[in-house]
Amino acid sequence: MKQTIQMQRIQERMAPGVIVRDGFLGVDGRNLVDILTTDEAAAHRFGLSHREIADRMIELRDAGIAGLGEYIDVQPHFEVRVDSVRGKLPCPFGDPGIFQKTNTTVKNLALGREITYTDLHIHMVGSHGFYEGKGSAFRVEPKDLAEILEAAPSGA
Ligand SMILES: [Zn+2]
Repeated sequence: MKQTIQMQRIQERMAPGVIVRDGFLGVDGRNLVDILTTDEAAAHRFGLSHREIADRMIELRDAGIAGLGEYIDVQPHFEVRVDSVRGKLPCPFGDPGIFQKTNTTVKNLALGREITYTDLHIHMVGSHGFYEGKGSAFRVEPKDLAEILEAAPSGA
């Protein structure tokens, strides 16, 4: 797919040192539009929209807040820890809003797998379908989110 000028500008804001030291793209050399298209297909393989994945990220984060920085049990077989780090980040897509550096770690005890995501991830997944580039230390795979968080399609 062709990358628009606007998307090229966004991609430039994702480079190392613009918003975050390491950037959002890792070693991914693809155009942003191609990253988004591929991850959209990955989410759809699980029958999920980006919004549904983001809603599940929010649900588990909100369940974990009561742990005040320690792991707490969340039914049926999760442990969730929510850590707030000082500082805030803007979204590289340039929309208004600034996001707390909150890290949520979800352990799925049934699968023996875990994943960590930030409030900015929640926003970028839900509003932009962006999971960061391949090789980014902070990339969250749509497949991992779907499986570990056990995200389910909301539609009946
Ligand atoms: Zn945004």
